[in-house]
Amino acid sequence: MKYLIYLLMFCGIFCLAARPTASYVRVPISQTNGAPLAWNLANPATSIVQGGRLTYRLNSAGSDNVPFAQVERALTASFQTWEDIPTSAIAFTRGANTTSTITAASGQLELFWLETSEITQDQLNLTGALALTRRQFNAVTGEITDAAVVFNGFSYQWAVDGRANAVDIQDVATHEIGHVIGLSHSPIGGATMYPRTTNGRTQNRVLASDDIIGASVIYPEPGFLNATGTIRGRVSEPNGANIFGAHVVAVDANGNVTTSALSQPDGTYTMQGLPPGNYTVFAEPLDPLGPSFFSRGDLDAFYSNTTSTYSTSADVSVSISAAGTAIRDFTLTRETPALGGYQVRGPESTDFLNISGQVPQGASNVIVGVNGPGLPQSGTPFSISGGGITIHRTFFATTSIGLPAVLAEISISPTAIPGSRNLIVSSGGQRAIVVGGLEILPSTAAVVSSANFAFNVAQESLASVFGGNLATAIAQAQTVPLPTSLDGTSIRLRDASGQELLAPLLFVSPGQINFQIAPGLLAGPVLATIGGRNGFVSTGAMNLAPVAPGLFSANGTGQGLAAAVALRIRNGVQTFEPVTRIDPTTGQIVAVPIDLGPPTDQVVLLLFATGIRFRSQLSAVSCTIGGQPGSLLYAGPQNEFVGLDQINVLLPRSLATRGLVNVVVTADGRTANTVAVNIR
Ligand SMILES: [Zn+2]
Repeated sequence: MKYLIYLLMFCGIFCLAARPTASYVRVPISQTNGAPLAWNLANPATSIVQGGRLTYRLNSAGSDNVPFAQVERALTASFQTWEDIPTSAIAFTRGANTTSTITAASGQLELFWLETSEITQDQLNLTGALALTRRQFNAVTGEITDAAVVFNGFSYQWAVDGRANAVDIQDVATHEIGHVIGLSHSPIGGATMYPRTTNGRTQNRVLASDDIIGASVIYPEPGFLNATGTIRGRVSEPNGANIFGAHVVAVDANGNVTTSALSQPDGTYTMQGLPPGNYTVFAEPLDPLGPSFFSRGDLDAFYSNTTSTYSTSADVSVSISAAGTAIRDFTLTRETPALGGYQVRGPESTDFLNISGQVPQGASNVIVGVNGPGLPQSGTPFSISGGGITIHRTFFATTSIGLPAVLAEISISPTAIPGSRNLIVSSGGQRAIVVGGLEILPSTAAVVSSANFAFNVAQESLASVFGGNLATAIAQAQTVPLPTSLDGTSIRLRDASGQELLAPLLFVSPGQINFQIAPGLLAGPVLATIGGRNGFVSTGAMNLAPVAPGLFSANGTGQGLAAAVALRIRNGVQTFEPVTRIDPTTGQIVAVPIDLGPPTDQVVLLLFATGIRFRSQLSAVSCTIGGQPGSLLYAGPQNEFVGLDQINVLLPRSLATRGLVNVVVTADGRTANTVAVNIR
């Protein structure tokens, strides 16, 4: 006779930032038993596992904030993300919807929202948490036999489109499903299993390397462990005493954190599942408790006796081959670390938070920083792991609670490899490292001037974003003021002050959106987040300038004949004349030559432009036509069409008979794209 002892574990609390063992970290059985939890896919003791797949059920009540069809799409996509890991056998089947709201043993793996209370029917308390995963498991074997995921709809707003004032369902559900399969919290800032997210974030929808390795080591596809390598060793004091809870981190050749492990009570650590290659490995203390980046308080009770009183080790280089094992021991002296990196300031906020900063590829002049005790207040102590990042300047501050902070203004190359980078402060031979403190996001959309498609974009100007899956249909604005949502698609623009505004939209389609840079956004780095009804979210970075002149062309390409009209003043009478027309036989846009007329005529060229209205003064704008300077009469808003600017230039009479000539506009030292007009 054999008894199964079932324990319930309250785990998987996923919190909003700043509001209040083996590679990756697996959930241990208990406070005293570090053996990890897992489902048994081959010989299960639960009917939740059928044919090697876990059956999940969605509560048909869904969320009060989002139609059920969208909840379904977000949750099934979250399961699919884990199933899609090619090196992991974990797989899911969607079962019939349920009405169960039981988190203890129900015989179902159910997902549901709490809407009228933060306490479930069976007394699980979610207060302060976004969501919670409760597992039931065999306390001897560690086999998981039941689980439930509860979302906190009582305290938080939920959404599926990445909007700024709500929590993204797929972002959080993907994290919770990691708990369902047996993963605990990852100390790596960019991992989906990192314990915090915030409104509007969607990056946890995408698994990081640590998450993928975790799911692959627990449920390996055949061949996975032979195709990858292992780093293991022991962390101890000089006197040989074991160090429990040291964070050992492997960083790949691009500077991205691949995975990490915590040393166990016997001081040993193991990182399995590393792709062959060269790694930089170091051991560091977790942060003390409190609102720090990652502390033992983010882990299961098994880790409650770990210590963090030692300094970060030196780097060691490790080369890993397929099926190979490298052994690296670390000796760390017991002492209070001279430097601590506790919180991160990212480009999204001017506050220091216990969550990574996120910057897309191609972002320029963004501020990131670290606070913590002992950080230096002079010199150039700040660095970031890996290539593709330029640090323009380093500066210093003290936080409102008196912690020293080190900050830097950085730019990210468009070709920097996305992933979790380390923020490093070095001083006096010591280092504080915030592991995964900066996430480089793939830039999935390009933001350009609507006039010339250059990457220079100005405040209040007309801009276009190009990408994929930006919208589900083609839609055009029908009203002024322009709508901020078309076909369910919107663009959030966030400037360096943290101000976030919705862009007025002119046109949306799957591949292109035309919009105005929302008035009031500050010049400097701006992150555009494009959310569509289809649930896709794209990001694009731009460096907004006061002035970035772009001239519209007649064919819409930014090249060729100008989008313009000629204004003739004859005997005090003004008449407008077209400068282009469509040839009825070829369908091509052709020039209507401008006749300068008798010497008593004045002919003014009206050019349509964008990005020019904030020129410092009219004399800071110049226009040459065929190399001849024209007398500039106006350069500012066109005043009828949102975001459109106009330049009025008196055509010099010396241009007569010149034919096709180039028009070159410069404003505040920045030159627009060249367009052309034809002079008779
Ligand atoms: Zn969690």
